[in-house]
Amino acid sequence: MFKVYKIRTAGLQAGALFLILTVGFMGPMPGARAAPKLIDLTHNFDEHTIYWPTSKSFTLAPVHKGPTSQGFWYEANNYEAAEHGGTHLDAPVHFAQGQWTVDQIPLSRLIAPGVLVDVSAKAKDHPDTLISRQDMLDWEQHHGRLPKGVIVLVRTGWEAFWPDKKKYLGSDRPGETADLHFPGFSEAAARFLTRERNVAAVGLDTASLDYGRSKVFKAHQVFGAANVPGFENLHHLDALPAKGFRVIALPMKIGGGSGAPLRIVAEIP
Ligand SMILES: [Zn+2]
Repeated sequence: MFKVYKIRTAGLQAGALFLILTVGFMGPMPGARAAPKLIDLTHNFDEHTIYWPTSKSFTLAPVHKGPTSQGFWYEANNYEAAEHGGTHLDAPVHFAQGQWTVDQIPLSRLIAPGVLVDVSAKAKDHPDTLISRQDMLDWEQHHGRLPKGVIVLVRTGWEAFWPDKKKYLGSDRPGETADLHFPGFSEAAARFLTRERNVAAVGLDTASLDYGRSKVFKAHQVFGAANVPGFENLHHLDALPAKGFRVIALPMKIGGGSGAPLRIVAEIP
């Protein structure tokens, strides 16, 4: 009996080994789907995080870090920051009275199919670049009409300067906004995306939906009036395809907030 048992065990082991080797050589079993790829589009919040020159930066103040008298380890901090800084959400109410605050934005505007419009070649060495209506039409020429309810992310290439404030914003003087230079949406592009394409939300890899030279924030006004949320200071847009991914953008749910820190991820199936 013992011998038979041993032989059976050996047979099972050989079978299992064969199965492992076969799967190893042939890849996943038929019908098994590869796990979706998740790309984090979020910058860290820390002492390097870039905020608007007039805003309060992120600070982390330790409450406790170390062993307690009761014998367990304990770590906790307080943090402080403006709504608008680092990777964050602009609620429509930011520049449009009566429109959605952070907590009022439906989740369907924050979790939706995404597209990437790459204007980094045109913006290179041109900090005052406006993302134009034509940039959107050029994307459509190659990839088809922007579907209703899509989240449009625009890559300007500016994230390469993060966290160098001088290069990223054009100026690193605290409290000073007169000399900012970075790309942003033109008013015409904002009107096109809201009125003609009904997008769910927009985002980009600069500090503001409007370009640095803007004094009246027309793009913010247009997007806000149309209840279109904005995502600013995005990261890793160079890892995204032109289309075929999902955006998951979950801001801190600040009741009545005009903006909020944002954790944003792209899921490529
Ligand atoms: Zn903002």
